[in-house]
Amino acid sequence: MLLQSGRCPGALRGGVRSQRLPRVTPLAPSLCRFKRAVALAAQKAAFPSGPYPVPEGPVSHFYREAESWPTAETVQLQQHDLEQHPYVDLIVAGAGPAGVAAASRVAAAGFSVCVIDPEPLGHWPNNYGVWVDEFQAMGLEECLHVIWPKAKVWLNSEAEGEKFLDRPFGRVDRPRMKRLLLERCNEAGVTFLPAKVAGCTHGEGSSEVQLTDGRKIRGSLVLDTTGHSRRLVQYDKKFDPGFQGAYGIVAEVESHPFALDTMLFMDWRDDHTHGPGQEAMRAANEKLPTFLYAMPFTENKIFLEETSLVSRPAVGFPELKERLEARLKWLGIKVTRVEEEEYCLIPMGGVLPKHPQRVLALGGTAGMVHPSTGFMVSRVMGAAPTVADAIIDQLSKPADKATDAGASLRPSSESEAASMSSAVWRAIWPVERIRQRAFFTFGMDVLLSLNLFEMREFFRAFFSLSAFHWHGFLSTRLSFPQLIVFGLSLFVKSSNAARSSLLMRGLPGLVAMLLELGPTLGGYYREATSLKERKDAVDAAARKAAAAQRKGATAAVPPPAAAAASASVVVDAGGGESEAAAAPAEKELTATKL
Ligand SMILES: Cc1cc2nc3c(=O)[nH]c(=O)nc-3n(C[C@H](O)[C@H](O)[C@H](O)COP(=O)(O)OP(=O)(O)OC[C@H]3O[C@@H](n4cnc5c(N)ncnc54)[C@H](O)[C@@H]3O)c2cc1C
Repeated sequence: MLLQSGRCPGALRGGVRSQRLPRVTPLAPSLCRFKRAVALAAQKAAFPSGPYPVPEGPVSHFYREAESWPTAETVQLQQHDLEQHPYVDLIVAGAGPAGVAAASRVAAAGFSVCVIDPEPLGHWPNNYGVWVDEFQAMGLEECLHVIWPKAKVWLNSEAEGEKFLDRPFGRVDRPRMKRLLLERCNEAGVTFLPAKVAGCTHGEGSSEVQLTDGRKIRGSLVLDTTGHSRRLVQYDKKFDPGFQGAYGIVAEVESHPFALDTMLFMDWRDDHTHGPGQEAMRAANEKLPTFLYAMPFTENKIFLEETSLVSRPAVGFPELKERLEARLKWLGIKVTRVEEEEYCLIPMGGVLPKHPQRVLALGGTAGMVHPSTGFMVSRVMGAAPTVADAIIDQLSKPADKATDAGASLRPSSESEAASMSSAVWRAIWPVERIRQRAFFTFGMDVLLSLNLFEMREFFRAFFSLSAFHWHGFLSTRLSFPQLIVFGLSLFVKSSNAARSSLLMRGLPGLVAMLLELGPTLGGYYREATSLKERKDAVDAAARKAAAAQRKGATAAVPPPAAAAASASVVVDAGGGESEAAAAPAEKELTATKL
């Protein structure tokens, strides 16, 4: 199996979207608490933790040329007809890996999905490197065109500075992965609109996305997958990330000194800065160190990238380029042709978008980049099915109201649409993931403060940890308690000098992490009423009104519509919820919906 197959909820599979809801009796507060505890336990159990299983048996070196990029001739995308279809169930802004992976899964469940991107067939510019076990676990291994059975780290030029990592690494065949995901979109009936999104407004239970050319499209839900441009999501705090900066080339070279079966994950050697006249580069590198990341393809073709792991502000591209040139000279690598250049600037850490909010997010927009490493594509491909399933679940919910009267399948009020988005955000950023991210951001804060010598000591300790810990850390697969053990083990493995600098430099980050963790200890997401509970509140109000009418006291009781309105949650344009207007009867019914 290449890609994870789309799971379709039973009710949709048979085309049956409407079902009369069973009547529920108000839950006693203790039962609510019990339900909440069970839901939290289930959420915890669902959190994928521990590293992926390492591929069984020896992994051999593998190389083939990457495919050609899909074109209008090879993949015929279904164009979206705005006049015929001004409204869709889901609008997806951005056709990167996150956008197309989620779009195909939601459409496969029977919903109308439109993907908007200025160039739906455009090239994915980023050079994706991944651990093979990550892609294998997701059934994506056919999307790798190079596999190195092992990786390597050079901490310094001493013999003991050379560390081999027994974990196969791969390079993603971006054209193939894009073609496969687009083909899945085609099979599922996703339509594409070549355009740029400019903004988004919400009203009457739907969202309107405005395009830069003046056109508009409406939908029940909007998913922002515009990567680091974060075009539609909103922030309620200043976005102040660290930056991973890198300058890389895919180059033809006369020769290079690297073994073809080993990926060079990090080379912290600095001999290239020790020559005469290089004092300034040496001093700058000792203060803000950069390393070489290299993927040897053949004897004469290689990807070479000078990388600043994380800094604030970013190390500039001219400086990275200069350091790479000096390094290649020292390594004796003569470039004969540059096939591709990569200018990499990845925002790392920083605040998350406001959550919940009406616009949904996945990938770069959702802050899913690993704050300590800059890696993201495996995390995005792992999260896409979870987020898509939450969207499917919510899009199915208005159908619950489509009873004998044949009501609309779309959300009909702002409170209903906000409740749907809120439930999806719980799948985008479950509490356990928020805790995990707080730890990773603490890791980033430590890395931001390290000079070259401290960085070497840090990675010496890091790669001497158990595979469970270092694999799991890099693959965002450790739960918060596992991360605590990871942190303590790292501390124990560190040298005395590294320990004292970790203690000193790590303290502000530790305090920031504890502050961030605080809100996750209580009810992180404000409790939201489920649609079922809203419907019951509406029914109860209607019954009450009818009874009052029968008693001839109509004037004293609000009519059903007004009662329903007073029982709904008030939502502002940005999606913030206020429970001020929630009727007491509904408050009693409130339960956590995870
Ligand atoms: C140079 C570089 C190298 C990287 N290398 C790695 C790596 O080795 N491994 C790894 O795991 N991760 C890597 N990353 C991280 C990488 O960004 C993510 O893994 C991945 O690309 C995120 O996918 P995405 O779908 O969220 O966003 P993107 O891939 O950025 O896709 C965003 C899409 O949105 C579209 N878009 C933007 N603005 C608009 C708009 N206004 N309207 C409509 N559409 C819009 C764009 O055209 C694009 O198609 C790298 C990032 C960079 C920048």
